[in-house]
Amino acid sequence: MATVDATKRGVSAWHGALSRYPSTLATIGSFCERSWLACDCLLCAAASAEALCTHCLADLPLAGPGEHLQDGTSAQSLWRYETPADAVVIAFKYGGAGALATLWARQMAPLAHSHDVVIAMPMHLSRLRQRGENPVERLATALQRTQRPTLRRVTATRTRQTAQQQGLDRQSRLANVSGAFRIDASLQGQRVLLVDDVLTTGASLMALAEAARSAGASAVAAVTLARALT
Ligand SMILES: [Zn+2]
Repeated sequence: MATVDATKRGVSAWHGALSRYPSTLATIGSFCERSWLACDCLLCAAASAEALCTHCLADLPLAGPGEHLQDGTSAQSLWRYETPADAVVIAFKYGGAGALATLWARQMAPLAHSHDVVIAMPMHLSRLRQRGENPVERLATALQRTQRPTLRRVTATRTRQTAQQQGLDRQSRLANVSGAFRIDASLQGQRVLLVDDVLTTGASLMALAEAARSAGASAVAAVTLARALT
């Protein structure tokens, strides 16, 4: 039941965020009807070859310089998790990954140049079955395509179902995800880039970074769509 409730919360958040934009819910419906092929701009509904028109894309609030997580992992986000970037990220998480992954990957591409391997933040299998796909996996695949053949995709697994991080304090988040990831491939001497949707405390990214270092990574950095202030 917990996962069903989590999904309801997610969909509710998505509708709440998108309701601030008069045209967006109709646009989402249009996306769905057209199987996320050609689309109008998600935010302003202007005719656009991609999910966001160039004006709305340029108006998203830039996150600015990167930071270091508590474990020293460098982390860079594209945007601040605030209006209107929050609505776009939520749309990505709840059904819009097909339309948005390639666009986001292009924005992230300059950050991926100096890496050998890209790893997406994994979902546990039970959540993956419920959701149908992990949008972050799709983003990592699109990012790899912008850099091929120099960037390699490696898959991590979430070895246990963890509680939703939302609502937990920093220490609880760290404890919740510690040791929750496994990487079977050798990353010996590899420079690894982790990909996730939203950076909050960084607890999940640090746990995944730990798994990457255990697999031999010589350097680990992270990139996310948005940075939420905590
Ligand atoms: Zn627009």
